[in-house]
Amino acid sequence: MVRRLGAVAVLNVMWVTDLFVLGHGFDDLAAPGGLLTVLGRLTGLYGALALLAQVVLVARLPWLEAPLGMDRLTAWHRWSGFWVLWLVIAHVVFIALGYAGQDGSPVTAEIGTLVFDTEDVGKATVAVVLLVAVGLTSARRARRRLRYESWHVVHLGAYLAVVLGFLHQVTLGQDFIGSPLGRLYWWSLYGLALGAVLVTRVGLPVWRNLRHRLRVVSVVRESGDVVTIWIGGHRLDQLPARAGQFFLWRFAGRWWEAHPFSLSAMPDGEFLRITVKALGDGSAWLQRIRPGTRVFAEGPYGAFTAQRRTRNKVLLVAGGVGVTPIRALLEEFAHAGDDLVVIYRASMPEGAVLAAELRALARWCRARLHVVTGPSTMVGRHGPVMGPRHILAMAPDVRERDIYLCGPPGMTDAVRRTLGELGVDAAQLHTERFAFAA
Ligand SMILES: Cc1cc2nc3c(=O)[nH]c(=O)nc-3n(C[C@H](O)[C@H](O)[C@H](O)COP(=O)(O)OP(=O)(O)OC[C@H]3O[C@@H](n4cnc5c(N)ncnc54)[C@H](O)[C@@H]3O)c2cc1C
Repeated sequence: MVRRLGAVAVLNVMWVTDLFVLGHGFDDLAAPGGLLTVLGRLTGLYGALALLAQVVLVARLPWLEAPLGMDRLTAWHRWSGFWVLWLVIAHVVFIALGYAGQDGSPVTAEIGTLVFDTEDVGKATVAVVLLVAVGLTSARRARRRLRYESWHVVHLGAYLAVVLGFLHQVTLGQDFIGSPLGRLYWWSLYGLALGAVLVTRVGLPVWRNLRHRLRVVSVVRESGDVVTIWIGGHRLDQLPARAGQFFLWRFAGRWWEAHPFSLSAMPDGEFLRITVKALGDGSAWLQRIRPGTRVFAEGPYGAFTAQRRTRNKVLLVAGGVGVTPIRALLEEFAHAGDDLVVIYRASMPEGAVLAAELRALARWCRARLHVVTGPSTMVGRHGPVMGPRHILAMAPDVRERDIYLCGPPGMTDAVRRTLGELGVDAAQLHTERFAFAA
């Protein structure tokens, strides 16, 4: 899948370059400022292509999401975002310098003429400002300081930037002006990318929620800061959700916030169940949610499912509230009769929520369950906690197992390293992080 996507990207770069040639893009090369102008046009076209690729990566297309997972797609989206930003900046600089060379005027005067007197460059300027704002607020340091919702609102500006950028491309783009093939290519590309977003991020969720009409049916307190919420609705047997997946949830009274929560039980066709730890405003508010509250869910998302399994021996590793998808997967694997080992890591025994359910399920399917509590600096009979010897003591045949790992990013990275040291093949390891690439 990754190779196929890489090939599609390379092919598109080649087509864009070809269409530029067909549209007489290189004709001005020998003119004063010609090289800079050509570079400016090409970087603009590649920037538009990268921006559309970014839109597709977060369009949540099921055929991309299921094999690759939202976490990986979000990481690529973030990585390609930096390319978009640099290409767009290069486009602006090269075009300003090239046109100034062509007209023999100072660069500052040329920028004024371009922004204020050239058709649709004003729109493109707004697009650039929006993209720079998205880039700046996505830098790690800014991202940590901003509330998720504020960052998200700025990020939505990128869609407006796509439309404004397109309008300026229609008026000034070399391919649009010079070649019907170019027009066809770019119209199709923009249409497909924006259409995909509208269908999968707006149309499909609205249709599913009208159909299933979700409501909270009961709320169970698991500990001082964790609740389990049961959600009912119509025809839930027709919702294609699986153990290990998550939805983006919105609740009446706080519609403006969408939070990702994994299913904490295998969907049974009647109810969906989530278990929420209070980690900030939104999740703290959910601790007091009442039965009857309307729910809007977008999803299911995630590739952390039994479909990924390559063998019938499985090790499930949960850290803290990362137990939620692991609990659901244990149920699914138990029904499949697999050979199961479960490790549940929590810093304190009272923090090991759903442990009683895990014990009951493990007894029922004869899985070996290890609940490991204590600080992460703890060193025991088998060396450092969750270190190679400790993991081997709990799962001696770890190399023969598929491993499903979910927990906070720090714990996930540490266990990943340990498994690497133990020689576990990367293809056997399936992870879910309770944080998207940031
Ligand atoms: C795939 C996935 C599955 C998850 N499953 C569970 C679960 O089953 N149970 C559970 O208790 N927690 C789960 N989480 C974590 C949960 O989403 C956050 O704790 C919750 O959104 C925090 O929101 P807040 O308003 O309480 O806190 P805030 O203070 O607003 O945020 C705390 C942290 O959560 C992040 N966050 C907030 N909103 C979102 C969002 N819409 N999308 C992505 N990140 C966000 C913020 O960036 C910040 O890092 C999961 C997270 C992910 C990414």
